[in-house]
Amino acid sequence: MKLQRVLQYAQSLLKDAVHEGDIAVDATAGNGHDTLFLAQLVGDDGYVYAFDVQKEAVDSTLHRLLDNALEHRAIVLKDGHENIGKYVTKQVAGAIFNLGYLPGSNHEIITKPNTTIAALESLLQLLKIGGVIVLVIYHGHEGGKEERDAIIRYVSSLPQKYVHVLRYEFLNQHNDPPFVIALEKVKDLPTK
Ligand code: SAH
Repeated sequence: MKLQRVLQYAQSLLKDAVHEGDIAVDATAGNGHDTLFLAQLVGDDGYVYAFDVQKEAVDSTLHRLLDNALEHRAIVLKDGHENIGKYVTKQVAGAIFNLGYLPGSNHEIITKPNTTIAALESLLQLLKIGGVIVLVIYHGHEGGKEERDAIIRYVSSLPQKYVHVLRYEFLNQHNDPPFVIALEKVKDLPTK
């Protein structure tokens, strides 16, 4: 047997939660790999909302969709994921965040604790029962540990009656490897 690698595991969680006709969210489009993956899962009757604050990321995500002739299944928004509620009004089956900076791009443009948590709060409301939010936590960069710790504090405080929270992590790898946090909604949360 072979334990699933962290990125494989992240995608397998999405695959279990997102089906044809569903709405899915890529909260950090980056180079567009997960946007494409989600676009393949939702089929022609579903839809993907992808967010990124960097033009390069939006462009490379659009190109990846075009190269695969799936641009009709997704909208790539040049806006922060904290504004998700402005665009997404329907129930979401699955969402993914890849935190940190975009490799090969500006290392100063990183995801930040407050905006990541604001996006999580909105997504938890939008998520359908049985839906999943997957976070791939990169924490080796400057600012990464603060974001990691803030997210762990936030998700650990979510009542288990509403959300199941999982951490999937290899414990003996060097150089701060990324790990996964997954949230499964089991019951509608009280609205604030
Ligand atoms: N660290 C990962 C890649 C993360 S990419 C890896 O090594 O594979 C993270 C992306 O999030 C970047 O493209 C960045 O522009 C984007 N981002 C930063 N803040 C954001 C925000 N508030 N909303 C949406 N995207 C954001």
